Amino acid sequence: MKPITEVTLPKGAILYRESDANDYAYIIKSGEVVLFQGHARRRIEVERRGAGSVVGDLSVLTGQARAVTVQAKSDCVLYRIAAGQITDKFNRLDPILRACVDTAITFSRTHAQRAAKGGRVRAAPILAPSVLHNSEDLMSRFQIETELSRALRTDQFSMKYQPVVEIPSGRIIGVEALMRWDNPTLGVVRPDVFIKVAESAGAMQDLTEFAITEACDAIARLHASGTVSNTFFASVNISAQDIARAEFVDHLAQTLDRCDLDPACIKLELTETALIQDVDVADSNLRRVRALGCGVSIDDFGTGYSNLAYLKSLPLTAIKIDRCFSGDAYGNSVSRGIVRLLVNLGRDLGVDIIAEGLETEGDVDTLTALGCIMAQGYHFHHPLGEADLAHLIAHGDTVSQIA
Ligand code: C2E
Ligand code: CA
Ligand code: CA
Repeated sequence: MKPITEVTLPKGAILYRESDANDYAYIIKSGEVVLFQGHARRRIEVERRGAGSVVGDLSVLTGQARAVTVQAKSDCVLYRIAAGQITDKFNRLDPILRACVDTAITFSRTHAQRAAKGGRVRAAPILAPSVLHNSEDLMSRFQIETELSRALRTDQFSMKYQPVVEIPSGRIIGVEALMRWDNPTLGVVRPDVFIKVAESAGAMQDLTEFAITEACDAIARLHASGTVSNTFFASVNISAQDIARAEFVDHLAQTLDRCDLDPACIKLELTETALIQDVDVADSNLRRVRALGCGVSIDDFGTGYSNLAYLKSLPLTAIKIDRCFSGDAYGNSVSRGIVRLLVNLGRDLGVDIIAEGLETEGDVDTLTALGCIMAQGYHFHHPLGEADLAHLIAHGDTVSQIA
């Protein structure tokens, strides 16, 4: 997991020289660089570039050697992107967009060849303040991506567990495992933010393996301590990339084995979007997961593609109703209708229905009247650390402040 690396370039240092190989492109995070041709007294400054600009991209795309030397005008921090990663992305471009970029590359190559014949390219030095669209969003994404690669090695992740409650008895029957990231530079980063970045960087594997390992260890400890019954479960969120990898199922099987845990105590949660991406691969891996004995739930049900066909074919054991319906059913008759429909659907399909995001007594009463048995939400409990969870189950309260 290292598609993007942060590098520092002190004032005066050379990033690369004219005629060097085109191995990386760079995005300037801070500082300023100067692009020049020639050497010493015959040096011709071509351009200056500052934060938000890209350097080295053109030679990566044209496959030609560096046309300029790049030197730091001030202390710089840059994101370094391997040429292979750029060409990979380029090859996956929409065909029309690719044709446009091809035209631009050919144009630039011809221009460079003409310039080489007729002498150096002369241009007035200009500071390009930003040549990237949405440069702020991209910078924050890159920052999260570079911090992510360090984070796992330095213990910055932890898991919280939100109780799942059996409404009629009020009993906590299991938990949903939710990841937390506290980074020294960025502070607490929300999981929906960093998971998206990790997914687009192709870096989910380490995070998911961490979640599975932590959740299995926690459930095994709770079982061993006698705090919970041996049917007490943890649901772990996984992404489309996880379920597309056969090694994911291998890791799950090894972890269950190492913890000597009943596989029925681990359920995987996948969104509709994740399921739909490559239904055939997801289907075969999910069947292996089911064959192990683990549960499989559809998360945030009703917010994705809502293609009901896969409900028939995929090996599901539970449907989680998104809180935009379950948390809204009390005051909204359309949401109430949808919840009623889903509860009946669950009954007909023989799968559990879990209502998410119940925040008030009114939500709980409404969902109970609609026949919903299992639920989670702030009305019952916020996500808790393992020690607080154990204390809550054993003594009915927690030992520390809820996070
Ligand atoms: P999710 O899977 O739908 O998880 C439920 C989210 O709703 C959690 O947010 C939880 O803290 C929050 N929540 C629970 N009860 C209530 C409530 O009554 N009201 C409201 N407003 N919110 C409630 P969280 O922990 O911030 O996680 C956000 C999302 O990030 C998750 O949504 C899930 O998609 C993703 N995520 C979290 N942990 C992991 C993980 O370990 N792996 C993966 N792949 N995704 C994760
Ligand atoms: Ca979930
Ligand atoms: Ca959810």
